[in-house]
Amino acid sequence: MSSMLRARLGRARSAASDAGVDALLVPPGSELRYLLGGSGTSFERLTCLVLPAGGSPVLVVPKLEAPGYAAVAFDALGVDVATWVDGEDPYAVVARRLGRPGRVAVGDMMPALHVLGLRSAMPGAEQALAGPLLGELRMRKDAAEIEALRRAGAAIDRVHARMGEWLRAGRTEAAVGADIAAAIVEEGHVRAEFVIVGSGPNGASPHHRVSDRVIKPGDVVVIDIGGPEADGYNSDSTRTYSVGTPRDADVAATYAVLQAAQAAAVSAVRPGVRAEDVDATARKIISDAGFGDYFIHRTGHGIGLDVHEDPYIVSGNARPLEPGMAFSIEPGIYQPGRWGARIEDIVVVTAGGVEPLNNRPHELVELPG
Ligand code: ZN
Ligand code: ZN
Repeated sequence: MSSMLRARLGRARSAASDAGVDALLVPPGSELRYLLGGSGTSFERLTCLVLPAGGSPVLVVPKLEAPGYAAVAFDALGVDVATWVDGEDPYAVVARRLGRPGRVAVGDMMPALHVLGLRSAMPGAEQALAGPLLGELRMRKDAAEIEALRRAGAAIDRVHARMGEWLRAGRTEAAVGADIAAAIVEEGHVRAEFVIVGSGPNGASPHHRVSDRVIKPGDVVVIDIGGPEADGYNSDSTRTYSVGTPRDADVAATYAVLQAAQAAAVSAVRPGVRAEDVDATARKIISDAGFGDYFIHRTGHGIGLDVHEDPYIVSGNARPLEPGMAFSIEPGIYQPGRWGARIEDIVVVTAGGVEPLNNRPHELVELPG
């Protein structure tokens, strides 16, 4: 673990150096977890890994938050710890460590409070985002990360396999969603990060969560669920169900188009193919069938310690896919005011092609009404 993290810290410093950045300033969150193997939460008190391109790294952390980092092997990683107490200026602590940097890169999700605090303490330093630099490292998963994503994928598949226990006519989306959230934890996640139960017309809103709508016989229901396991790696999978025979006569034919598009996009994944070509593969099938206006989002997103991260499977992203990249393939067709459908698998690019990490059937799953 320590040798892997030391290698990541080294690669991050090289990336900073190559980009002309004097230091990365990384707040709690997925970026810090990637680099140190653990992370607390961001608060109004500054916690920040100061990772100079040259010179030794230090975690600047409030004294009262330091116990939250007890599991981090600071000595083995060669990272100092500098605690500060209320009344001290933590931004000045960072500035003293760095001297007079010309350019620093702050973590993508650093609170504005701290970004501006650091700017005041180092007025001569241009600020950039660290996310693009760290994203280059994070998007190529090693074997242990892929194994973690595989475990998370199998866990969320087990939740989908149990959907008939909860999804029935006469129940509200919220009640079904609460049961699913409990099952997400039962099957091995530390929490349900998101639970979408989009029944009937609500299924046409891709990021609907749950509501008090009572599920009716004949409803098509989009179920998009996921969360992190203890190691921080996330699951994310969507299946579309019908409660009894679908009420709308166009469901079967439309769903067949979606299923074909999703399968074709998965099959298109292999090293060297551009991310945008995978998007285009799904989009062409849906557009050719006349539903292009109803596919209102990109085909997918990378996944790892964040549910959404690089690489994005979207028009305009000409990045060639490489082994170790992990992302979703999740086209949808959304009929406003009526119903929607989405099919989502996480896949990993392998040397020879693609490995899907979600393996539940892709057909519209008809549950008893
Ligand atoms: Zn999803
Ligand atoms: Zn997704």
